[in-house]
Formats: sequence, structure tokens, C-alpha cells
Amino acid sequence: MVVPRIPYTLPFPPPTIYPSHAVTLPAAIAAVTDFLHSRNTVLLTGAGISIESGLADYRGEKGTYRLNNKYRPIFFGEFAGSHESRKRYWARSFLGWPTMENARPNRTHMAVSNLGELGVVSHVVTQNVDSFHHVCHPKLPTTELHGTLRTVTCLTCHSEHPRIPFQKTLARLNPKWADFLQTAIEVGAFNKNNREESIKTNPDGDVDLPGAPYTKFRYPPCPKCLEETHNGTVLIDNDGAHIPKPDDGSMKGILKPNVTFFGESISEIAKKEASKAVEEADNLLVLGTSLATYSAWRIAKAAHEKGMGVGIINLGGVRGEDLFFSSDARGERIRIEFASGDVLGGVVKELSGIDHKALDTANEDTVKRAGGIGLGG
Ligand SMILES: [Zn+2]
Repeated sequence: MVVPRIPYTLPFPPPTIYPSHAVTLPAAIAAVTDFLHSRNTVLLTGAGISIESGLADYRGEKGTYRLNNKYRPIFFGEFAGSHESRKRYWARSFLGWPTMENARPNRTHMAVSNLGELGVVSHVVTQNVDSFHHVCHPKLPTTELHGTLRTVTCLTCHSEHPRIPFQKTLARLNPKWADFLQTAIEVGAFNKNNREESIKTNPDGDVDLPGAPYTKFRYPPCPKCLEETHNGTVLIDNDGAHIPKPDDGSMKGILKPNVTFFGESISEIAKKEASKAVEEADNLLVLGTSLATYSAWRIAKAAHEKGMGVGIINLGGVRGEDLFFSSDARGERIRIEFASGDVLGGVVKELSGIDHKALDTANEDTVKRAGGIGLGG
């Protein structure tokens, strides 16, 4: 059996800034403003833009892989094939959910929304599963390349169900875990500023508690499959917790977060949607991602091969970025190394001519109205 590996655990080489004078923030803002002006741009975003919302990134500032030693994301095969793996996954996800639910979009998402309204950004392709684009700019088309945590989906009937009521069911089925979670929240254990006692939420919205009794965790089956089962293929206990049939390896009625796990193919629909958006655009602007996953890398590569403008705003090196700046690059090029919020906020102000304070106030109101993943439906 081939053991699937997480790609690119080593840092990428540092970038060469382009244009070379864009090493100050005003120059970087001017370069990005020129890049976006009067063009139709697609954005490709990654975990780097959600750090300001308090969510973890897989990579450190300079592109190093910084997962803690004990943490390894679950692979699809493990989840689909093992009841024990699912218990462990859902227990950790149960504990990580409040952090995810309470997180809010940040100034980068707001700037993206503004750029959509200004007519220079036509589409967003994101690798993030936090739903921030979805809630922050519902009118600007967004493709969630790796799915979303706001829903769970059934491996059998592919029905989708919102995560919030699912969390309530997990709490009902696991009262001791629910008590633990409540206490942890009350003592501020999830507060990232409380370094001594904090419980760390991983980028996929789950939490690792070494030694926790994962094997006792219970989770429900797909309600639709349960309702339709006439021959007892989906079994539950008296409280409604799923009892997979022993030894038959059946995946009937198994619910999974609606995200692409490692070792799983990304949705064909998302892939096509992203390709079409890039096909119709003049520029691609990469934001807050090192393009380590192939699905994201191939989008940037396609834009380069098509002769489109390719811009990158990222702290730290990006996979194979030399290619985009090679002598056969036909479109415009920019490479900026500042926080995306600083750069895009400045670009919006340049392009819109709006008074800075008025824009900040309007954006704060929008974030409040938008809420977070929990309100994304
Ligand atoms: Zn189902």
C-alpha cells in the first residue's frame, strides 16, 4: 500500500520581489493597483489570509511546515474505512468547532469584497474551508476548491446538512465531552493569547487532546439514509448514535465534513468552475498561499501558460514561483511580500478614492452583518 504523504514539508526558497522597488508598502500598493486596474482578475487564496481571523495556518511565516509533531491531518481512506478513526475525528472536530464558529472574516476578505464591488475582481477561488469569502461577499462568485466546514455530507446519498445542528447532536450524544468543552471555553482554554493553558485548534478546525478517550465518542448517521433504510442497513443505538455494521466495511450513511481530505480528489464541479473563471480572466492574483497543494498550483500554472498576468502576494516562498517569472512569461508580473490586508486595503483606497475612515467603518459594519461560518447557511 502506498502511504499518502503531505507534500512539501520543507520551506520554499525566498521570493524575488517584482517590480524590484516594491519593497516598501506604498510601492507594493502602487504595483498591485496597476496590476488590477482596468482588468478582470481572479483571486486564488489560501490559509495565509485567515491567520488574522485567529485561524492556524499549515505553514509558518517563511513557508516552513509548522504542524506540531503529534498532529497529522486525517486521510480520507482512514475516515471512510474505520469507525475508530471517525470517532477520533469527530471528537477532535467537536472540540475545535466553537473556535471555527466564532471566527470572523478579516480586512483581507473585506478588501476582496470591495475589489469585487469596484469591478476589478470577478471571481475568487479559495483553498480555505472557513467560509469567510462565502459570508463576506456573497455576491462575488467564490469557488471553494477544498469544500467547506459549514456543512457535513453523506458518503452514501451525498445529502448535505448544516454543521451547527450537527454539533448540537454531537453534544447530546456525548454529554461528558460537552461539559468538558463548556468548561474549557469558560476558563479561556481556547484563547490563543492565553499561551500557558491554551488548547490549540488545528487548521482543519480540530483539536488534539493527548490521552482523551476518543474511542467512547459517538456520532450520528446521515438522517436521510436512516429514514430511508428499510432493511436495517443503517443501525443506531437508543440515543441515535451510529453503529456501523461489524466487519462489513459498509460506508452506508456515514457523514463527513464537506471538505476534501488528504488522499481524496477535489470535486470535479469545483475544478471546472475554477478553470472556467481563470479562462475568462486577464489576471490571476495569488494571495496568502504557497501553492503547495497540486490543485492550487495547477491553476496558477494554467494562467501562466495561457499568457495571463500572474501576481503573488505571500509572506514566504511559493512552490515553483520561478516559473511565473521566467523569460517566457507573457503577461504582467508582480511579486509582493507584505501582509495581504495591508496591501489590498491600500489598493481599495487607491482605486475607489474613498475616504479611508469611511471605508473602514463601512467594512466593520459589513463584517458584523456577515457574521462567521455559523451564519453562512
Ligand atoms: Zn445519506
